[in-house]
Amino acid sequence: MERPPTADRPLSAYADLLGGDRLDSLRERGESLSDTRVCHVNSTASGGGVAELLRSLVPLFEDVGVETDWAVMEADEPFFDVTKQIHNGLQGDDEPLTPEMYETYRETTERNAHAFSGEYDVVVLHDPQPLGMIGALRERFPDTRFVWRCHIDCTAATEPYLDLLSSHLEHVDHAVFSREVYGETIGIEPRSIVYPAIDPLTEKNRPLTESEERAERERLSAVPFEGEEPILTQVSRFDPWKDPLGVIEAFREVQREVPGAQLVLLGGMADDDPEGREVYERVLAEAGEDASVHLLTNEPDLTVNYVQRRSDVVVQKSIREGFGLVVSEALWKRTPVVASRVGGIPLQIDDGETGYLTDPDDTGAVADRVTRLFSEPALRERLGENAREHVRDRFLLPRQLGDYLDLFGRLD
Ligand code: UDP
Repeated sequence: MERPPTADRPLSAYADLLGGDRLDSLRERGESLSDTRVCHVNSTASGGGVAELLRSLVPLFEDVGVETDWAVMEADEPFFDVTKQIHNGLQGDDEPLTPEMYETYRETTERNAHAFSGEYDVVVLHDPQPLGMIGALRERFPDTRFVWRCHIDCTAATEPYLDLLSSHLEHVDHAVFSREVYGETIGIEPRSIVYPAIDPLTEKNRPLTESEERAERERLSAVPFEGEEPILTQVSRFDPWKDPLGVIEAFREVQREVPGAQLVLLGGMADDDPEGREVYERVLAEAGEDASVHLLTNEPDLTVNYVQRRSDVVVQKSIREGFGLVVSEALWKRTPVVASRVGGIPLQIDDGETGYLTDPDDTGAVADRVTRLFSEPALRERLGENAREHVRDRFLLPRQLGDYLDLFGRLD
């Protein structure tokens, strides 16, 4: 198994953002686990939220004194095709899971379980990909505690995929979900909730220098970031659940009140995602000749950072949402967010205090809140400041470190 490099950032790098007391408390909690050896296992060293999270989180565990490794499975394309389908099945897709697919999953996970080395007190398996390793691992390491960390919204999971999970979950000592309702669907005990978090020190979230800002402004010169016109942005994959067409509809209403308003839709599109391309084409057609609608695709993290930071209002008009990290990302940059009351979004937005919540199909309400924010700079500023503090309190990476330390302390 691969042992990928991690970020070179100690816990002290977060001191200015969080305050020394909080870091001291994390160190204390770490000390009480100083004889605990932990290994996190996932399926990719880069790309995707889990790898991003582990790259930042693993060195923080080490820094508070918990010996921590990160191991990545060796797997090939057929395995990833199967696990992509498992992922989709857990999100509600009902494509059949064939015996061949099951066999590919079993063969790869068992091979990895036999290749796994090291003596650990706790092994955390992230998402369904490495979960199949657990039976063989348990036999090889009977004294190790096994935690399954599920990062997926599985409330609409279909039966064959739930069955696949259940056959492995019997070996799990503790499961961790991002929201209580996901754990209820899977029905495993004991379980804990660990909310996702953003890393304030990555390219996507760190403060930008003046020259970086200037470079971004020049590169994105079609969007008047320094002009008088207020800018509304949604950062999301081009995905029907993120409702980009609904965003344009709301924006049309805003334009009637604020004629100079601009809309930015920033979204990634993977080459192997035909559905994303189709949604993008529809959005492009809907934007038509309107020069105030700007579509930005496959932008680097620094650009995502700049756009979230320099927009007047960020919108997240999702119809369904797991957690919605983009909401915390924007709030952290003091940009007020108008977002649907779905999934993990209400955890992040206190309606009227850190942003506004709207019903997912209420385009008029979105337009109303955005128009109000556009016309009241003092309101934007107040909400933006509250938002920053809310994220500082609850959704920054070191909080997640603390949640895991507490959890490891509870495992007997
Ligand atoms: N993102 C990005 N570029 C894009 C679109 C999204 O970097 O073009 C990032 C975004 O900043 C966030 C993540 O992808 O960090 C999306 O996470 P979220 O939880 O909001 O939604 P998901 O895509 O997981 O449903």
